[in-house]
Amino acid sequence: MICEMCGKDTETLTAVRIEGSVLQLCSDCSRFGQPVSPPATTGSVGRGGYSEFAEARRPTAIRPRRTEERDVFAEMPDLELRPDWFHRIRHARELLGWTPEEFGKRLNEKKSLVLKVESGSFRPPDAILRKIERLLKVRLTVDPNAPAP
Ligand SMILES: [Zn+2]
Repeated sequence: MICEMCGKDTETLTAVRIEGSVLQLCSDCSRFGQPVSPPATTGSVGRGGYSEFAEARRPTAIRPRRTEERDVFAEMPDLELRPDWFHRIRHARELLGWTPEEFGKRLNEKKSLVLKVESGSFRPPDAILRKIERLLKVRLTVDPNAPAP
């Protein structure tokens, strides 16, 4: 094997990068350049690692959006309801003389929902709770910013 720089015949040559070109050099001449790793091995390992990484990333790219949605809800905790909130709903509704069906129509909800709510077996979403408060003019929530009526 002939060194590409000095032409010396040697048993082992080292691939070395000198001024942009790779030369097979003897141990004496290889000192003048940057050692080059065998290109075949480095390339395949690098590409394989990258593609695996890219595939693994694809599902996670969707996850941040779901996390954001969860965070939005986390910033809006459920309203804290009075312990007798469903009794208040039923009492206020009866005072107005509405049947559960009529109340349901005004709420844009089913009568069955009204009955479940009034029995306390179903806690409606905050939006519906606020609607009920407006319709029945009753306070159902424990609002730390407002004194109890
Ligand atoms: Zn040489």
